[in-house]
Amino acid sequence: QSKHAGRNRFSRFDWGMKEKQSRTYELEMALRGALANGELVMHYQPIFETTTGRIAICEALMRWEHPTLGKISPAEFIPIAESCSLIEPMTAWAIEQACRDAMSWDDHVRVAVNISPVLLKTDGLPRAVIGALLASGLAARRLELEVTESIFLEDSGRTNMILSELQRIGLRLALDDFGTGYSSLGYLRHYKFDTIKVDQSFMRGVGENPRDRAIAQSVAYLARSLDVETVAEGIENEEQLRYARETGFTNVQGFVLARPMPADALLTMMQGRRESAPGVVTLADSRR
Ligand code: C2E
Ligand code: MG
Ligand code: MG
Ligand code: MG
Repeated sequence: QSKHAGRNRFSRFDWGMKEKQSRTYELEMALRGALANGELVMHYQPIFETTTGRIAICEALMRWEHPTLGKISPAEFIPIAESCSLIEPMTAWAIEQACRDAMSWDDHVRVAVNISPVLLKTDGLPRAVIGALLASGLAARRLELEVTESIFLEDSGRTNMILSELQRIGLRLALDDFGTGYSSLGYLRHYKFDTIKVDQSFMRGVGENPRDRAIAQSVAYLARSLDVETVAEGIENEEQLRYARETGFTNVQGFVLARPMPADALLTMMQGRRESAPGVVTLADSRR
């Protein structure tokens, strides 16, 4: 009897795997046409400077809407793109689109593009970046690339070379989702990031969890001492916003301030904010 139950469990498990594989296969096939069919769009989420309430950076986030499959999350399609080498043309397109869109913003606002770890193993990235800067006319200092700690897991010689080359061109580098991966202080010792983004999971707990608070505080302090900017990610309520401000995070990002939005909606928001007087970031910044 137990044998039987075991077999049933196995066959159910097997079914789940098969379904997942066929969904992945279906998405991979659909993704092959997505770029050419204009199904991919970049949305932008404003990131605010804590002391002035100004928009400092806009993070470019890719969106995919397939005619029959509907909206698919980047958390689902980016890993698929990474596994079948579609990530290269998709990223080249994303950087170029982001640079073009950023040309209509105020000169102090940067655009941040997420870069998959797999792209730091090939030499296509610096070429794509230079191509996008030349095609758009955007100043290199206004382009920030977000990478996660996982880029350091292997082949660090090559990764370091590519990162240094990008910084030599004048780009800024941000360490994304800090605290969720391997978070070795060695990375910070050997590599000079311009920005550290503290993962949203730490902001989630700052209200009730003293450990999350202690970690967020220490990272903000460490970054300040190293002259590195910080972003508190995932600010969802007033308490978290106040906390991030008091802790001294340079910038704040989160749904309570602004959600990712299409380029034209962002422009409208930026134009509406022009006349308002600067001051520390508050929830009013999301409304004005
Ligand atoms: P990420 O780079 O850490 O981006 C931040 C994610 O957090 C975005 O999700 C954003 O919508 C979400 N977020 C922002 N504020 C809040 C908040 O207050 N609460 C919560 N719960 N979430 C918030 P999104 O757009 O679904 O992207 C998910 C991930 O997919 C990104 O995480 C990034 O790793 C990846 N991704 C998105 N676009 C691209 C892209 O163009 N290229 C690459 N390589 N990866 C991308
Ligand atoms: Mg990011
Ligand atoms: Mg992040
Ligand atoms: Mg994240």
